[in-house]
Amino acid sequence: MRIVIKVGSNVLTRQDGKPNVTNMSALVDQIAAIRSLGHEVVLVSSGAVACGRGAITPSRQLDSVAARQLYSSIGQIHLINLYNQLFAGYGLVIGQVLTQKENFGSRTSYLNQRACMLTMLDNGVVPIVNENDTASLTELMFTDNDELSGLIAAMIDADTLIILSNVDGIYTGSPADPSSRLIPTVAPGKDLSEYVVAAKSGFGRGGMGTKCGIARKVSDEGITVIIARGDRPGVLVDLIQSPDSVPHTTFEPSRQPLSNVKRWIAHSASFAKGVLHVNSRAAEALKSDRAVSLLPVGITSIDGEWEEGDIVSILSPEGARLGVGRASLSSADTLESIGRHGRKPVIHYDYLYLENN
Ligand code: GLU
Repeated sequence: MRIVIKVGSNVLTRQDGKPNVTNMSALVDQIAAIRSLGHEVVLVSSGAVACGRGAITPSRQLDSVAARQLYSSIGQIHLINLYNQLFAGYGLVIGQVLTQKENFGSRTSYLNQRACMLTMLDNGVVPIVNENDTASLTELMFTDNDELSGLIAAMIDADTLIILSNVDGIYTGSPADPSSRLIPTVAPGKDLSEYVVAAKSGFGRGGMGTKCGIARKVSDEGITVIIARGDRPGVLVDLIQSPDSVPHTTFEPSRQPLSNVKRWIAHSASFAKGVLHVNSRAAEALKSDRAVSLLPVGITSIDGEWEEGDIVSILSPEGARLGVGRASLSSADTLESIGRHGRKPVIHYDYLYLENN
């Protein structure tokens, strides 16, 4: 199996901003054990900002962007150094992947990033991935590393994404409330909005709300997603060898996995260069189970300017987002064909990702 493991700042760092060596070394022990079972592992590790905070006191008050850049530049080295030593104890070679959202924006840079990770895996390296917080623009950042881990899992065609958190999984209410129950499995398509408490914990940027959204999306794409508690002894090995012995939530994968290009499109909505407004007939056709392409005859108007091959979103007459796709016509050519019969699709089915499909 190819497994992506995401670990948050709260598991990796202590309250005082020092690396949590106990948790990190337990994590590495388990990854080494999983590797020796023959699985490939990619680690998506947060903790750079939290670790940097514990390593330096700035000489004057910094704004949030400068603080993030300063702390992450320092903290990332502390983390990677420690990982390097810990993995070396098992004879494992690690490689650092620092990435940012722009690297997922065009198909070319996406495939370049993918090729890099696959080469690392082919060579037995354990990739350790984090956002390049020193360079990311605030308005173009991953929501958090949960989002990044979903993108990575989809990109490298992982079998399983394991998100380690500070709670055992998704609960029917607040995890702190004794009457809440842990939800062991989430079937494909199950609506969880009533359960999720969008509470945010500690230093990281994530929360259960984003975890759930990412888990839903990635499992809809055909990848099993597990949310479990990161500081339970042996949690990773148990999840793989005897899952019933450890509390967690599994999002079961859709039985119709998406192709790699559709997965890329599914995660690319924030890169959309324009909007296609469609009529109600086209909206119905897109919502049906049929494999349809979006034709100019179903489009009523467009916003924005784009080139052939760019990502565009599709809005229903009510303004709801129906999906995203890779345009096979530029905005100028789309404008010229709007409402016309017998023209080539603006988005071909193979490059169309529909929400809630
Ligand atoms: N990239 C951030 C860090 O390493 C973490 C983002 C998050 O909390 O998800 O500190």
